[in-house]
This record gives sequence, structure tokens and C-alpha cells, in this order.
Amino acid sequence: MKKVIFILMMSLLTFACTSKEQKEEFNYVVDSFADMQILRYQVPELENLTIKQKELVYYLTEAALHGRDILYDQNGKYNLLVRRTLEAIYENYKGDKTSSDFIAFEVYLKRVWVSNGIHHHYGNDKFIPNFSSDFFENEVKLLPSASLEKIGMSSQEILDYLIPVIFNPEIASRRIVQDSGVDLLQASACNYYEGVSQAEAEQFYNAQKSVNDPMPISYGLNTKLVKENGVLVEKTYKVGGLYTAAIEKIVFWLEKAYSVAENEQQKEVIGRLIEYYQTGDLRTFDDFSIAWVNDTTSHIDFVNGFIETYGDPLGMKASWESIVNFKNVEATKRTEVISSNAQWFEDNSPIAKEFKKETVKGVTAKVITAAILAGDCYPTTPIGINLPNANWIRAMHGSKSVTIENITSAYDMAAHGNGFAEEFAWSQVEIDLMSKYGFLTDNLHTDLHECLGHGSGKLLPGVDPDALKAYGATIEETRADLFGLYFMADPIMVKLGLLPDKEAYKAQYYKYFMNGLMTQQVRIELGKNIEESHMRNRQLITRWVFEKAKSDNAVELRERDGKTYVVINDYKKVQAYFSDLLAEIQRIKSTGDFQAAHDIVERYAVKLDPVLHKQILDRYAGLNIAPYKGFVNPIYKPIFDKNGNFVDLKIDYSENYVEQNLRYSTEYSSLPTFNE
Ligand code: ZN
Repeated sequence: MKKVIFILMMSLLTFACTSKEQKEEFNYVVDSFADMQILRYQVPELENLTIKQKELVYYLTEAALHGRDILYDQNGKYNLLVRRTLEAIYENYKGDKTSSDFIAFEVYLKRVWVSNGIHHHYGNDKFIPNFSSDFFENEVKLLPSASLEKIGMSSQEILDYLIPVIFNPEIASRRIVQDSGVDLLQASACNYYEGVSQAEAEQFYNAQKSVNDPMPISYGLNTKLVKENGVLVEKTYKVGGLYTAAIEKIVFWLEKAYSVAENEQQKEVIGRLIEYYQTGDLRTFDDFSIAWVNDTTSHIDFVNGFIETYGDPLGMKASWESIVNFKNVEATKRTEVISSNAQWFEDNSPIAKEFKKETVKGVTAKVITAAILAGDCYPTTPIGINLPNANWIRAMHGSKSVTIENITSAYDMAAHGNGFAEEFAWSQVEIDLMSKYGFLTDNLHTDLHECLGHGSGKLLPGVDPDALKAYGATIEETRADLFGLYFMADPIMVKLGLLPDKEAYKAQYYKYFMNGLMTQQVRIELGKNIEESHMRNRQLITRWVFEKAKSDNAVELRERDGKTYVVINDYKKVQAYFSDLLAEIQRIKSTGDFQAAHDIVERYAVKLDPVLHKQILDRYAGLNIAPYKGFVNPIYKPIFDKNGNFVDLKIDYSENYVEQNLRYSTEYSSLPTFNE
């Protein structure tokens, strides 16, 4: 649950620490459609890696790309069939490419690629196509037999499956449902459970959990839970198990990576991961995670596996993802300062003493340059990651935190001058504040959230880490965000040289409120609630403070010319409210107070004011900015000498979004259309 996602407010930023001249020649915007803008990112300093490091990067990027199909299948049972059918139509289309049906069809295909399936990557609702089912039916019937063979089905079979799946809004309407009072598994279209009720799944895993186990495995993390002949069975993702064809390829490339690892510790990391993929043993996954946390010296690093559990309504099963990266040495100095003062932050955190860690262990952090984004990190990607997720490993061995600065920089460059700040900020004072400090304070808040926030505090003995159930992710993100917000206004920031002066934090406070109370709502359709944990967390924090601040007017919503704005009258009081809320959120987490988590999330984090929501959507529509961003990866071309030795890695930024996805579907697609 430790992923920081790009938040809309970043589109206000100006750049502070990137080279403007160099970057402006680079073409950041690749494509735009529906609510998406597709960007490309640069991989600075790649050329400065050693030959061996480049070879390692190359093998790890191949291991990353081969997991693509897994996520499609995890996101929904019919997703691979949908993608393959759409791509076959697209590549064989002989009709009029200017027809409204074809144009709508192309947009739909691009959206499927964005979401790795048929449900919106962020909102979770199934998107309904704007082309007719007649058009679709006709095109499926025209598919050549070679295409049908690849899919493994006749055109009639495809139509029988896909007409309802694509066109009927009642079928598989949401990927993840988190509403209270319904069976979450029956209501969700994700593919982690089949024929299993929520109560059955909960009972199945509760029976395995031992309250006294100090090192519990992550139950159910790498399996699909199904019912066979009335009995619950776990299908494990591993070599020889579910998704074996893709996992074998991943292992193949990891073995090559193993042979050129930078050092013994990294060998241990890659070796354990291979062993885990071969056995599916979650104890081995924990061994891998510990080895990975302990690898703090390698220049190249990666995430590869079943990691984050946002896609499972019960928060147990992990989607497949990968990021390959290397250290941004210069920018990492900032996070090293934060990490080396971790104990001071823990000791001075405004939470009850019994919830504090006596010793904060192994909080390491770095700024990285992403070399490839894959699985659940492609094409939409986090800007910060803190892993591993197992609480006991974090407590005993620490965690590793990263901020992905070549991604944040690409967002920033692409958003420059789009009019967003001018539309939503109260006055020039706030615009200037954000323009002056925004890139720095956003990066710093992400660092604090990741390096310290998630790693701080502890559960009381005997508290089940899953006690907050569906509210766990929101409470955890709230906690990490508050930790960062609270300390940003502390004099320690200037003292440590992390902020230039005592005004800078106000940029983050203002943006946070503007986003949490208003502008993040541009991502939500009118009439819908907030589902995503990070968005819930931001609204929870800002609404809670806003309500408390009604007594002293520290924060208010003010009207001008029929438009609503956030005004912060007293920044110091806002910090005091953050302090109060952090204490309460930590208490909820540490004691596993499910009722309190339920109450605070349902009261503040979920519902929107429809009048304000509509106003914000209208104002935003006038700006013509896509609310979501995704990325294309560069192409890596290995160069070998005549003896087959790796001698260099070339990078090519020229590929567009359609080309890339079609190529990935050709070169990195090994799973059958249906996976059992
Ligand atoms: Zn987080």
C-alpha cells in the first residue's frame, strides 16, 4: 500500500532543478485521447553507466516487459481476449479510417491499453465504447483465420463473450467495489477470486492466520482463490502454476541479470526472486524482500513481482508490476539528509508515545531515474515507492523508499503554462508561492511520505495488520501524508537545508488544500464517489481540517464571481490541525480501531458536494487539460560484438503510443487468452 501516485496539483509546478535548455528540445507529449495525455520521459545519465551496468539494466527491462499479460488477466478475466481482438481488428482494418466508428474504436483500444483492461485505471468503472456493436460484430467476422488462431477462438465465440462484456453496462461494471454492505468479491470484476463469496474468502484466510506469528507471510498475495467441486483452492502464480508461460520468460531474463549482478548482495536478491517465482513460496518472497531491503549499495535496482494490493477489494492479492531504475546521485543527497535524521522525526512526531518506534531502523531513501515502467506501473506510474509492504519486515529490517524524479520532471515540463494555477488559486500570492517553491516542496513531501511517513509508528502487540480491512489503505496513506505535511512546517526543514526559508512550506499547504478540497475532483465523474485510496486520503485530511477550522477561519472556501477558492488565513494553525489528526490516525492504525476508521473515512473521504463538484468540472473543462497522464517507455537496443559479447545499450525515444503497445503485444505476450 505504499505507492505515491502523481497528483493533479503537480501540474502547477515550475521546474527548479532540471536543465531547461536541454529539456525543451525533448518532445514530451506523445498522444492525447479521452481523459489521457501520454508523455515520454528521459533517462538522463544512462550513458554514464558501465557496460556491465547497462547489460544488467537491459536484462531487467526484458524481465519487466514480459509480465505485461499477467496484469491484464488479473484485472479481469476477459481482458486478454478484449485486447487481442481489438488489436487484430485494428491491424486488419480495411474500412474508412475517418468514420466515427473507427475513430471511437481507436480511442477505446488506447483506453484499454492505458487501463490494462476494460475498467478505468483510476476510477475502476468499465468504460463504454462510442462505436456501435454492429461495427464491432462486422469487424470480428472479417478477421482472418490467422488472427482467430492466435486468439484461439472462432469469431462467433469471440462475439458471444465480448458483446456483453464490452457493451452491456450492467456486466462487470466495476473492477473493484469497496462499498459497505455488499459482497465485495461478487460485486468486483477483478480476477483474483472466482465463485467465492467475501465471507468464504475471509474465513479461508482467517483460519490460516496465527495472531501470535511475529513474521506472518502475506497470505494469498500470489494466488487466485477459486472454488473447485465445492472446495476452496489457491492457484499459485509460479513456474508450472498460473501464468507460468509469462513467469518462465521473466525467470529467463532474471537469470541473465543474475549473471551480471553488481555485487553479491544483488545476486542474493535476484537469486531469491528467481527461487520465489519457481516455488511460489511466500516465505521465500519474504527472504527476497529482506535481501532487497538490505541491498542499499547497488547503483541499479528494480521492483519485479506481485507487489501492491490495491486491485483486490480485500487488499490481499497483489497485481504484477515492475520498475527498473538507477540512482540519481545528486538528488539523493536530499533524501539522505531526511533518512539520517529519521530518529529525530520519530521522537518528535505528534503521536502518542506508545505508538512510536523506539528505534527507527534502516530507513533508506533515494531519488531514482526510471529506465522502464511495466505491469501495474505502465503506462500510468507512481512517482514514489516505499517497499516492502509486510509490516514485520518493515519493523525488523526497514524499508526502501524512492522518488522517481525523471517522471516528476516529465510531468512538470509537460504541464508548464497550462493555466491551471491561474484558474484555481485564490490570488497571485498563492500562484507565485507555488511557482517559486512547488517543484521542490512536492518532491520533498513525497520524500517525507515515503522515507518517514510509512515507516513511522508501530502497531500495538497483537493487533492484526489487516484489522482496518477495506479502510486500511486510506488510513495508511492518510498517515504518511500527514506525517510529511506536519513536518514540512517545522523549523527543522530550514535547519537541515531541505527548504530554503520558512515561507516555502506554504506552497505545499496551499496546493494540498486546493487539491484535496477541490481540484482532485476533476478525476471523478459527476454523481460518483471517491474510490481510490490516495484521493480518499487527501479529501479526508483537507475536509477534516476545514471542518475544524470553521471555528477560527484558518482555512476557508471563499466565493468570487461564482467561483469557489481555497483561502488559507493561518498556516501555523493548519499545522496544528495536521498534528491533531495525525495523532488520531496513528491511534486508529496502532490499535486497529476498525469502527473509527470506518467512521472517519465514510464521513470525510468518500462523498462529494455535487454543486461544487460540477463547478470544478466546468472550470477544468475550460482549460482543456487531460486529468490523467501515462507514459511510453524508451526502446533499448543492445549492441553485441561479433563474439556475442554485450558492448553497449542504445536508447531510442522515437516510438509512439500505438506502435509501442502493438509491439509489446507481439514481443511480450506469452499467456493464453484464458488462464486457469
Ligand atoms: Zn503512500
